[in-house]
Amino acid sequence: MVKVDVEYTKLFINNEWVDAVSKKTFSTINPQDETVIAQIAEGDKADIDLAVAAAKKAFHRYSEWRTMDASQRGRLILRLAELLESQARYLAELETLDCGKPVKDAEDEVYFSASVLRYYAGKADKINGNTIPADGDVLSMTLKEPVGVCGQIIPWNYPIPMFIWKIAPALAAGCTLIVKPAEQTPLTALAVAALIKEAGFPPGVVNVVPGYGPTAGAALTHHPDVDKVAFTGSTEVGRIILGAASAVNLKRVTLELGGKSPLVIFNDADVEKAAQIAHAAAFANAGQCCCAGTRTYVQSGIYDNFVKKAAEIAQKRRVGNPFDAVQQGPQIDKEMYDKVLSYIEAGKAGGAKCIAGGDKLGDKGYYIKPTVFADVKDDMKIAKEEIFGPVQSILKFDTFEEVIDRANDTNYGLAAGVITNDITTAMTFAKFVRAGSVWINTYDHVTSQTPFGGFRDSGLGRELGEDGINQYLETKTVTLALPKKPQL
Ligand code: ADP
Repeated sequence: MVKVDVEYTKLFINNEWVDAVSKKTFSTINPQDETVIAQIAEGDKADIDLAVAAAKKAFHRYSEWRTMDASQRGRLILRLAELLESQARYLAELETLDCGKPVKDAEDEVYFSASVLRYYAGKADKINGNTIPADGDVLSMTLKEPVGVCGQIIPWNYPIPMFIWKIAPALAAGCTLIVKPAEQTPLTALAVAALIKEAGFPPGVVNVVPGYGPTAGAALTHHPDVDKVAFTGSTEVGRIILGAASAVNLKRVTLELGGKSPLVIFNDADVEKAAQIAHAAAFANAGQCCCAGTRTYVQSGIYDNFVKKAAEIAQKRRVGNPFDAVQQGPQIDKEMYDKVLSYIEAGKAGGAKCIAGGDKLGDKGYYIKPTVFADVKDDMKIAKEEIFGPVQSILKFDTFEEVIDRANDTNYGLAAGVITNDITTAMTFAKFVRAGSVWINTYDHVTSQTPFGGFRDSGLGRELGEDGINQYLETKTVTLALPKKPQL
């Protein structure tokens, strides 16, 4: 077992490391062998109150943060990007320890996160409003101002990128933050908090309070001094958060939620390449990915050949100790492990044909064999519900019109993919599919510059790109009386 030092286990409030007011702690568990890695201070309402007070103070009109040049905010964000990269290996190992993803993937995610910081660092001093020739004897302009104190609630599947996707645009906009990492994966959020302090952000600008959703998370979403909530996680919790965010004040809300994304492969595709893309789409991050392409629709002319290839690729997937050169580690925790296994049983019971995997792997840790079901029907549970595990469902289709209806026959709308060499087919699919991201002849191509988020039950608002920073800005219209002919 690789030894990784865990340095930070307390709450990070006002640039200081503090115990929870209650003195309570919770265990964070290694999904490889179910052992306790560390005890973490457990934030609750009292701690959220302190963190919000610190963030509110840091947002005061004369504070160091509010009076800082926007270009200097950009410099601090750039400095954080550099620090992240300088610690990339350590952060990756800490992440792997806490959530079980292959260490190479975790390291790539640190570099990706640094690129997101750099993108928004560059935006900090380019937040411009408009001048508007309004009716009447006036001159009008818009000012783009930070939304204010923001509560950001992070999931466990991509702990570092999700943390950075949230804080980078918010900091560029000039907001102050309280971040609640997922209870399963608090370690890297705390390690990044230490880098935030080292980068030179003033006290209270970023506060990190680990704890549970219904306690610390709910305190944040109900707090009257929080102006905005940003959340990534399940649609079920997203609904709760949307309700909470309107209970005591009307918080701005962005939600990045679940999905059941279709990937549609037409007869003209190269079957080998298509099967590889579809495999990566379904199995990335052990299937624990909100935009996973879990419904693989394959046109009837290549269906049998595709099914054979998909099974072969899944059977060869290297699963094991995430500190080794594997493609897949364990699932995050016992709850998700049991849930995924129950979906696999539902697939078998429902009449789908299990052509790879279909079972747990080993007796220690939360490992599951990469599982492929063929001959899946749209009304089966495994085709309708988000599984969030290494399970691919393959469905057969005949015509374009049929598959576009079937692809859209879901309440989700996070992502979609299409594989074809016919530009008209590809672009027509992109036009009619109801999803926030559409990938053509690729999948999961997410970048700092391109907005990401969902239609329908997959969320509200967008992260990344220009859209991402707009979610942290309010528009203020300022109108000045300017008579046509002043008495000067
Ligand atoms: P998943 O289903 O992927 O485990 P969740 O949506 O349950 O994800 O959790 C994602 C994040 O939301 C975590 O940080 C979790 O603590 C938080 N959370 C869960 N329930 C609530 C809640 N009622 N209010 C606020 N945050 C919550």
